[in-house]
Parts: sequence; C-alpha cells; structure tokens
Amino acid sequence: MKLLYRGKAKTVYELDKNHVIIEFRDDISAFDGKKKDVIAGKGEINARISSILFEELNRNGIPTHYIKFEEPNKIIAKRLEMIPLEVICRNIATGSLIRRFPFKDKTVLKKPIVEFCLKDDRYHDPMINEDIAYNLGISNEDEMKKMKEIILRVNDILKKFLYDKGIILVDFKLEFGKDKNNKLYVADEITPDTCRFWDRETREVMDKDRYRKDMGNVIEYYREVLRRISA
Ligand code: UDP
Repeated sequence: MKLLYRGKAKTVYELDKNHVIIEFRDDISAFDGKKKDVIAGKGEINARISSILFEELNRNGIPTHYIKFEEPNKIIAKRLEMIPLEVICRNIATGSLIRRFPFKDKTVLKKPIVEFCLKDDRYHDPMINEDIAYNLGISNEDEMKKMKEIILRVNDILKKFLYDKGIILVDFKLEFGKDKNNKLYVADEITPDTCRFWDRETREVMDKDRYRKDMGNVIEYYREVLRRISA
C-alpha cells in the first residue's frame, strides 16, 4: 500500500483513487509533539471510538469521510483534500481558552464557542480568522461559515449521544476535507485524543488531559469511553 502521510498518531495509505486507509497507531503526543509516548492498545481503541462517533454523524446526515471500520485499528475513508485548520467547539471553558481569556475554569458557556486555528506546530496552531486564512490561501469566508454550521450541528448530535452514555462533551476539534467538487466533509478522527470527555456524574477526566497532566490510567479511561459508547 502506498504511504500518503504519517502524522503524530495516524498513518494514511492510499487504497485507490478515491479512498484512503487510516491506521490509528499507539503513539500519543502533546505540547506540539514535545511530549511523546507509546500506549499499547490506544490505536485500536481510538479507531473503534472514532468509527462509532462517525457512524452516529453519518446516521444524522452529517457529511463525513468515514466509510467503514477495518479490524483491528484502521478505517476506510474518502480521499479528500484536507484543509489545514483545526476547528474547535467548546461547551465548557477549560484548556487553552482559560489560559488566553478571562474565563473561570469549568464554567458552562452561555453558547458554544467555535474557534479556527491554523494547523501548524511551528507556529503553535495559532487562532486564525477569515482574512488571514484567505490571504494564506487556506480557506475563505463562505467555507469557514459552512464549517462553523457543521461543527455546531456535530456538537448537538455528539453532546446528546454522549450524555446518554454518561459522558459530558466539554470541547472537541474537527478537521475538514474537500472532494473534487469542493464539497466539505468532516474528516480526521473523533477520539479522546481530540475531545475532552468528562464523566457525567463524577466529572472525572476521560480523555487526553490524563496524559497531558500525567494523571495516569490513560488507556483505562479510553477503554471506558469505548465501553460506554458501545453499549
Ligand atoms: N485539540 C486537538 N488538537 C490540537 C489542539 C486541540 O485535538 O492540536 C483539541 C483538544 O483535545 C481539546 C480541544 O481541541 O478537546 C480544545 O483544546 P485547547 O484549545 O483547550 O488546547 P489544549 O488545552 O489542548 O492546549
């Protein structure tokens, strides 16, 4: 299989002209790749979690790249031209939001915040606006408006789906890709590496913050997320 791209936690192979195979690896990293480890079993768990969440989005009519799960740690997806933006949606203030703005940690936001960031570790993924994105040749106002509409719909769908499974969706990141007709699709992954998940009853952290903050039991909590959403 032809290797197309190797990222920090996933590898993308060409399947055919219009499809890719995405392999979820056991690698984990944080702080722009400065902290790195291998957590045995994470790749398989994340491939399964991502598949379940993308299936839920597909069922609800959201255009996504996801086609099917491939045992044990891969998915087959549409081959797209990726937009180098990280689109973040937040329901509760925490993480980088409270480091950059005077929000109190863990406050429920009056309405979801959508943020666009440039996907570029050299610049530490800075927040970007329509004019900067346009001048960099990355996107444009109309496309960013569509991404914002889609991520807010995704937020509604996933928030409800997860809440029913005992999980609070605190915030998450999406990446988008385009097909040859410039149609937008949600792509990449939706996993505890790219979302913040808290236990609905205890507010325990069930996501990559356990790794970022050395809280321990990373894989145990990822496995628990998978167990709950599989039920
Ligand atoms: N996120 C991500 N990749 C990034 C940056 C953020 O998947 O490169 C996710 C992160 O897991 C969280 C949300 O986006 O669910 C918001 O992250 P935040 O801006 O608070 O940054 P962090 O605290 O990770 O520095």
